[in-house]
Parts: sequence; structure tokens; C-alpha cells
Amino acid sequence: MNVLRVALDVPLATLFDYLPAPDALHAPEQPGDRVVVTFGRRERVGIVMERVTDSTIPPERLKPILRVLTDAPRLPADWLELMRFLSSYYQRPLGETVAGALPPRLRSVKALPKRKLRALSARDDAGESRFVPSNQPNPAQAGAVERIGAALGSFRPFLLHGVTGSGKTEVYLQLIARVLDRGHQALVMVPEIGLTPQLEARFRHAFPLENISILHSALEAGARTHAWLDAARGEAGIVLGTRLAALTPLPRLGLVVVDEEHDTSFKQQEGLRYSGRDAAIFRAKVAGCPVVLGTATPALETWHNCRMGRYERIDLPERAVPGATLPRVRLVDLSIDPADHGFARGTVEALRGRLARGEQSLVFINRRGYSPVLACESCGWAAGCERCTANLVLHSTDRRLRCHHCGWEETVPRACPTCGNPDLRPIGRGTQRVEETLAALFPEARIARIDRDSARRRGELEKALEGIRRGDADLLVGTQLLAKGHDFPGLTLVCVLGADNSLFSTDYRAAERLFATLAQVAGRSGRREQAGEVLVQTRFPKHPLFEALVRHDYPSFAEAQLSDRESAGFPPFVHEAALRAEAKQLEVSMDFLREVAASVTPTEAVRIYDPVPHVITRRAGYERAQLLVQSRSRPALQSLLTAWSERLFADSPRNVRWHLDVDPIEFD
Ligand code: ADP
Ligand code: ZN
Ligand code: ZN
Repeated sequence: MNVLRVALDVPLATLFDYLPAPDALHAPEQPGDRVVVTFGRRERVGIVMERVTDSTIPPERLKPILRVLTDAPRLPADWLELMRFLSSYYQRPLGETVAGALPPRLRSVKALPKRKLRALSARDDAGESRFVPSNQPNPAQAGAVERIGAALGSFRPFLLHGVTGSGKTEVYLQLIARVLDRGHQALVMVPEIGLTPQLEARFRHAFPLENISILHSALEAGARTHAWLDAARGEAGIVLGTRLAALTPLPRLGLVVVDEEHDTSFKQQEGLRYSGRDAAIFRAKVAGCPVVLGTATPALETWHNCRMGRYERIDLPERAVPGATLPRVRLVDLSIDPADHGFARGTVEALRGRLARGEQSLVFINRRGYSPVLACESCGWAAGCERCTANLVLHSTDRRLRCHHCGWEETVPRACPTCGNPDLRPIGRGTQRVEETLAALFPEARIARIDRDSARRRGELEKALEGIRRGDADLLVGTQLLAKGHDFPGLTLVCVLGADNSLFSTDYRAAERLFATLAQVAGRSGRREQAGEVLVQTRFPKHPLFEALVRHDYPSFAEAQLSDRESAGFPPFVHEAALRAEAKQLEVSMDFLREVAASVTPTEAVRIYDPVPHVITRRAGYERAQLLVQSRSRPALQSLLTAWSERLFADSPRNVRWHLDVDPIEFD
């Protein structure tokens, strides 16, 4: 008997058995086929994962597959292997894992609209792609290309540790040219593609004849399906995308690049909570090709892997533009030069100097809105979100209070709802307030604010960035959104406000993130001939993190962090997972976690912590708690998680929502 085991998008940790379709046209079905089956009363799309000869279900109860969908190529064996790996590693049913990896249109039982046949590209004619380098590689870049290039054709992970502006992208482009010449595909992953249209432009400029697939979640469904199909059919030589690009079938994969590999947005925070970077490394291993992790500030896990000899490290220690140097970082000691409206005198003077010389400055504060708290000083009331354990953020442009955790918003009250005091005060500052202060300090300056509020609509951000590059603004105020990847030729000064906020966080990863953010934002300055400068306002100028930042010394920062983590028993020296629960009442969540924890016999190998409420306990009306488990042994951790998830998928209370997060990084 022929039985096909099919993955379906249902929250059950099992495959479903079907008989081959009676219609002999497509039979016999193979693993990787997309098929339509009846499940319950509905027709659903599934993926054939295996062909077996026997089923635990009696033959008379087995239903046949209705039809095979042939509008997209059969999913290849290495892709099915990736799905199995992700499903077991991240403890998510195979069916949901597979469904989440497919573009939405391929999950539908409707056949795809027929595509116009495309004319053969010039690449096919010439048999080789034309590469237009924009720069002659410098010796460091050429060395990197040689070393990685020599590894083409076998699995080898590299860390390309290059300071900001060291020309990492140029190294990727040179390598991709070699990969295309061998007839292979290159997968290039970036944290957020929408923020960097410049990057896409650089790729198109470098490979004018190549079919480049762009893949990210903000794409319109049709465009995403096309890009995916081009990649899956092997027609696209280059696939450039966000974390989800790691889940695309790539029949001729010859190189994987993960740019800004430390970026936390590579980790998906819902559904299948996978790391796009780790999935990319797995891809390279299965495909037998090198993987390049590029960054100025590696994730500590990556740095650790280098120290252990698992990854090979290549340094690009200098900026690539001749004459460009790394910016000078200065700490503005707020205990000597106290801030007035957020700005120390030294900072104001530095900004004034740049304005006088006609150079651009960037004021960085990682908090959007006007002020994070609106409070009554006479009774201590503060505007809070009813659905979350969080304060509402005051937004000045439309005079509204917004919750940054659940999206709730309301108008600003005229007076304190508790005591009637009409004089409510904004406490602390965000980008809007900083913009207001700058406008008062420098009335003649042209100010541009860039954050998620100013760039709500698509295309708006792009336009604003283009204007900044042209020199339409003297002062930029922005969040993280401005820190990543942009190249502003006229920018020579970066001022950082509020850096101390994450210096003494309870989250042991806060320092790593702060260092990366500061190095990134500092990297926006002085990318051309004029030397750049960075001012960081702080009350703790002696803090080792800042001392390392001033020296541009990531390695010593990383070594110090790693030795702290080793003695405290944190990752990467142990492996972690979190079981999280949310319910209408906190006690329900806590009891659920306690019960799950008690359901296994404790072993030496795995440490199960007590459940704790999350810092922002209530979000959108649900009270949240989590349970952390740690182990030095990955297999021991995985077997505990498997035991838990088998139990939970079989039977879990209806009043609790739960999920597992393997290698968790943050949780808001
Ligand atoms: P990174 O990705 O390391 O931040 P980029 O690849 O964006 O660096 O390069 C930074 C700048 O240096 C870009 O303007 C790029 O055109 C320029 N550049 C890169 N390589 C060279 C080179 N070999 N000679 C001159 N300029 C270069
Ligand atoms: Zn009051
Ligand atoms: Zn809220």
C-alpha cells in the first residue's frame, strides 16, 4: 500500500495519512508535492513529507489526495529537511512550520494565476553574469574575498568583522560575482530591507543583468509569490531579503550572507520563533557552501563561536573610503556639565559648530513620542494603559496618549483624574520633545525627525532619507530607525541622549544591545573625508562599556561580557528556552507554568527556574508569566522541551495561551 504523510496547517503535532490521488496523471505523489486534501469538511493545502507503505489508520478510513498542485515547483528534499529541523528545534508542529514558511498564496487551494513567460535574460545567453564593481577592493577586502572564495563548494562559517564603513558590502558583491559565475545562487539576508532601499540599488547596479529576488513580509502578496517562485525555480541568481528569505527553496545555493548578523530582528517573535541567522547557517551546512556573518559588533554567541574555533574570523579594521577614519567618540559627563532640557552645554556647542560650518548632525534618542510619562506632581498619578502594566506615552503632534505595547490610545486629560490638578507634567523625553527643544535652541536650523511615527506610510521614510542625503536638513532627530545602515554623506556629528537608560538593566543582554546600537549610530558619522565626532551624554563616563566604545574596541568589550556571562552561567555558556503563558488572571498563568514544570522529573542536566510574572505583566488585557529553563546540554534541553510540548499539544487548558521560545532574546 502507498500512503502519503501530509503536513497540514493545524496546531497538532502530527502528520496526516492519505492515499494517492486516483487520477493517474500526477501519481505517484512524491515528498515535496503540494496537494489538496479534505480535512474535516474543508479542503486544505498540505505538503507531502513522506511516502510510506503502512498506516496506523485502517485502509478503509484513509481518504485519497484530491489533487496535486503543479503551479509551483515540487519542494526539494533539503527544504523538507530544513522544515523538519526548524519544527523539532523550535518545538512547533511540522504542519504549522511548513505553512508559515510558504508565501500566503501558496497556502491557498486556488491555483496561482498563470504568469506571462519571461524572455530569457541576458545572463542565460551569455552563460555568465556581468558584474559591475563600484570600487577596486582594498587589500583587506581582497584578502577577505580570497579566503571566503577559496571555501566555495564546501560548508564553512565565517565572521566578517568589519568596522562601520569598512566595505563589507563590497566583499559580498565580489563573492556573489564568483558564485554566479559558477552557476550558483546567493542568499543575502539583511535585518530590515524597507529601511535600506540603497542596498537593493547597490545590488542592482552591481548586477544589472541578474534576476534579483527581493523578499520580505511587507511585500504585496503577488510580488512576494513571484519573488519566491523565481528563487525556488532557480531563476533568481540573488535572493535578497529579511529573515524569511532563509526559508525559500534554493536549488542551486552556493553562498549565504547574513549582514548585521547581530541584529535582533533576525529572530521572529511570534509563530515559529526561529532565528533567521541560525536557519541560514543550517541552510549553508545542508547545501555545502560558505556562510558569511557580517557585522561591526558580532552577537556574543557568534564571537564565542569564533573563539571556540567553530567560525573563522576575518577582520576589516579600517574604513574603506580613502581618507575616511572612524569617528572620535567623546563622553559628555553630565555630573560636570548637567543637562538642561536634555542637552549638556558641550553638546549644544558642538551642534552650533556644525551648523555654522554647514554640516549635518544627528541627535539620537531611542524613544519615540514626546515624553514617556504624563504625571501629576501633586498626587503622584501617572497616565497608564488600562490594558497593560505600562505608562502611556504622550504624543505632542496630535495631543494623544498612546500605549507602545498594545496600541491603545486616548486624548490627553485636561486635569488629573485623581485630584483635579490641571497642571499635568510630561516627565522624560522622546524624539518629539527633543525636536521641540532643538527648534527653540536653533530657530534657523532645518530639523528632520525620523521615527516610526514620522514614517508611518510606506515611501515616506524613503523620501525623508533621500532628502537628508541631499542635504535638505541640518539637524536629524531619530531613533534606532536612523542608526542602521544608512549612508549620509554630510553627517559629521552624532549626539546620543539617554544612553544610561539601558546601562543598568536587569536584562543581561542590554549591554550587548547598547554597545551595538551605539557603534551603529556612531558609524553614521564621518563616512567621507571630514572626520566624524560622536558625543555620548552620560553620568557614568568610567563605565567599561563606554571606555571600550571610545576606543572602538569591540573585542575587549566582548571578552569582558563573555567572562561575566560565563561566571553567571548565562548564554552562550548555557542554552536557554522560555515557556510563556498568558491568561486573564496572573494566577492562572502562574499555576499553569507551575504544573507544567512539575510534570517532569527533574534531572541534573536541566535547570528549571520558578515561574515569574513578566516585567510588563499585563499586555492587551492578558497577564503574562514565564518560566526559564537552562542547560549546558542542548540534547537534554531539547528532550525536556519535547516532553513538555507533547503533553501540551495533547492537552492544555482552554483559558491559557502558551508558547515555547527556544534561544529567547527579548520579550516585550
Ligand atoms: P559597510 O557595509 O562595511 O558598512 P560599505 O560596503 O557600505 O561598508 O562601504 C562603505 C563606503 O565605502 C561606501 O560608500 C562604499 O562605496 C565605499 N567603499 C567600499 N569599498 C571601497 C573601496 N575599496 N575603495 C573606496 N571606497 C570603498
Ligand atoms: Zn493628581
Ligand atoms: Zn497597552
